[in-house]
Amino acid sequence: MKRFDVIVIGSGPAGSAAARVARRYGLATAIVDKASFPRDKLCGGLFTGRSHKAMRDIFSQDITPNLFLTSTHMRFSASGRPLADIPDAPEMHLTMRRRLDAMLHDKAVASGAEAFLGCAVTQIDQDARTVQLRGGETLGYDVLIGADGVGSVVARALFGKAFDPDKTAFGLEIETPLEAAHDNAVEIDFDAAEWGYGWSFPKRKTRTVGICGLPPQNPDIKASMSRYVALTGADASLSYKGAYLPFGDYKKTPGKGAVLLAGDAAGLVDPITGEGIALAMESGALAAQAAAKAIARHAPETAMARYRPLIRPIQKSLDQARLWRLIMFPKATQGHFKKAFARGSHLQMKYLQLLAGEADYADLRWELLRRMPRLAWRFAKHRLGLRQPG
Ligand SMILES: Cc1cc2nc3c(=O)[nH]c(=O)nc-3n(C[C@H](O)[C@H](O)[C@H](O)COP(=O)(O)OP(=O)(O)OC[C@H]3O[C@@H](n4cnc5c(N)ncnc54)[C@H](O)[C@@H]3O)c2cc1C
Repeated sequence: MKRFDVIVIGSGPAGSAAARVARRYGLATAIVDKASFPRDKLCGGLFTGRSHKAMRDIFSQDITPNLFLTSTHMRFSASGRPLADIPDAPEMHLTMRRRLDAMLHDKAVASGAEAFLGCAVTQIDQDARTVQLRGGETLGYDVLIGADGVGSVVARALFGKAFDPDKTAFGLEIETPLEAAHDNAVEIDFDAAEWGYGWSFPKRKTRTVGICGLPPQNPDIKASMSRYVALTGADASLSYKGAYLPFGDYKKTPGKGAVLLAGDAAGLVDPITGEGIALAMESGALAAQAAAKAIARHAPETAMARYRPLIRPIQKSLDQARLWRLIMFPKATQGHFKKAFARGSHLQMKYLQLLAGEADYADLRWELLRRMPRLAWRFAKHRLGLRQPG
């Protein structure tokens, strides 16, 4: 049986970042994925300034035209009705995950991680510290990093289930051909789904059109998607692909002893911006850092205790985002939010800066409360428990 200091399960942005950083610490590292690369991953592919920074820091990779389309044009709407058209927004990058993830995986392998591809992990033995791959091979680890996405087999081994389907958004997408006359605008529609939104993101040859929302509030999400597809003028004959995304329902303790979770497996997606790629890379890197410290002290079982304070700032920002969700999404407040958004160029700019990773939720809070005193009162009442929203 082969043994490694660290085994990383999953080679999406979280897993490749974890493997890359583990190698930086000189750890013997395996990266296991059930797929071979390149492989598809359902995603809008919006790559924010925060993602850019993480990719530069962890993978020494910059934005390049072969992998990214860059746009500074942003358009917001509600049921197709324009709320804001901003031609000079902060830069947004758009990518196809098939190519991005293959590049990140290659970088992890180039840094010395041993790849096991086309090998689904089927079993984890936390006492023996081994994982079993489909086909029968068994690998040993000191620290295991589960970066195996929303349906994580590692999270299931730790907690019995990977995620709560009622608190986890479901998204549908199509890749529609790019029209001859298009302006590269990045479009978001706040009304396309309940407790969620819709997007139309330009790529080099296609547009990714999709919606996502929490399942209990969207019992017929296919019908919502059909309406949004019609609004955007996308090809209505394309069949929809669907996937869950953990919309802010993160795991408070993302791991146990020598087993850590990163990225979607830990529930790290911002419910306001839908951003998961940056948080995946950041958390993967932090998990590897915690693993390295635990292994250096000959105490792999302390990895989770070392990971907890490192991951806390990301979890705190998700707590803030979840509060904003109570303003933006419930029926009682969403009309006020949309009005304030349409009226306030400062609020629009703060939201854009948030998307670009140049501002945080505290900046958005003051701008929103300044614009929406009535909404602030409703929100305060809700926080005091006097009234349930929506
Ligand atoms: C519809 C939709 C739209 C989105 N749009 C955006 C967006 O525009 N911008 C953004 O930032 N985020 C977006 N996200 C979120 C983003 O896609 C995720 O947050 C991100 O992919 C998380 O990365 P990860 O590495 O944690 O997991 P993943 O990217 O899911 O990678 C997990 C890897 O684990 C492997 N794996 C799974 N199970 C096993 C197993 N048993 N054994 C071995 N390997 C396994 C998989 O093959 C995969 O390669 C979107 C998500 C959805 C669903």
